[in-house]
Amino acid sequence: MNKNIFCVDIGGSKLICGALSSSGDILDTFRAEYPKNYTIDTITDLIREGYQALKDYDFYACGVAVPGLCDYKSGKWLYSPFSGLGDIPIVEIISEMTGLPTYADNDVNVSAAAEKYFGACQDTADFLWITVSNGIGGGLYLDNKLYRGGCLSAGEIGHFIVEENGRKCGCGSFGCLEAHASGASIGAIYNEKTNSNLTAKEIADLARGGDEVALSVWQEAGAYIGKAAAYAVNLLNIDTVVLGGGTAEAFDLLEPSATAAMQKNLFKKANPSAKILHSKPGRFAALMGCAALVLDSQKEI
Ligand SMILES: [Zn+2]
Repeated sequence: MNKNIFCVDIGGSKLICGALSSSGDILDTFRAEYPKNYTIDTITDLIREGYQALKDYDFYACGVAVPGLCDYKSGKWLYSPFSGLGDIPIVEIISEMTGLPTYADNDVNVSAAAEKYFGACQDTADFLWITVSNGIGGGLYLDNKLYRGGCLSAGEIGHFIVEENGRKCGCGSFGCLEAHASGASIGAIYNEKTNSNLTAKEIADLARGGDEVALSVWQEAGAYIGKAAAYAVNLLNIDTVVLGGGTAEAFDLLEPSATAAMQKNLFKKANPSAKILHSKPGRFAALMGCAALVLDSQKEI
């Protein structure tokens, strides 16, 4: 019997295909960067290349993570804010290519699934997964099930307003969490204050080296995340919030102020054990999540 899962993590700028066991072990990978002006055909050709490179791994199913909005039920990739790509029957394309039963969801939901199946939340029935990267997104597990919501867009914590009259967000509002605490925002805020041109990762290194401005920008971002997390916890009575994604690799810089702000804004009597954890799959969450999505989907049937 075939044992492994073909995983396809369609990123905003690169593709990672993986051969994963059903325990989430990464057996092999195929990686490719997209050229500047890519189309869905570019991505499809690279997925085909990845499948050819990995197909000897005895796959029984395929899981796909896409950026942006995805209709899990119809298998349609609806919209990607990075590329503008949309209305793509991604499940049909890949299942025709590989002959495998295929499931697709957005990268945030599959990352939450990775945490549930292989990470820090294996014994946790209810939790919120927050992706902190260039943008901010959230995925919810409620009562041991991925909760997608009526329009399949549950968990959009990045657009919680955390600051009245705050910074402009890509969604058109002002003061969203994403506009104050994403990797892109951390970079923008620091660069405005110091007239420099550094990435969030470089600013994290400065903060660890004792740069006070850099540290304060990270601490403020953490505090906004903690505030938004407290609102989510108060609403849902979940006791675990997990931070993942590239910017959350600086968990050491975000966590102290995030935990302090969450505690400050919590209804504590109802949520005595609420806590913020760092993702265990870390930067592999989306790829491992593709395998978790297959396990999750086949459990529902
Ligand atoms: Zn917004």
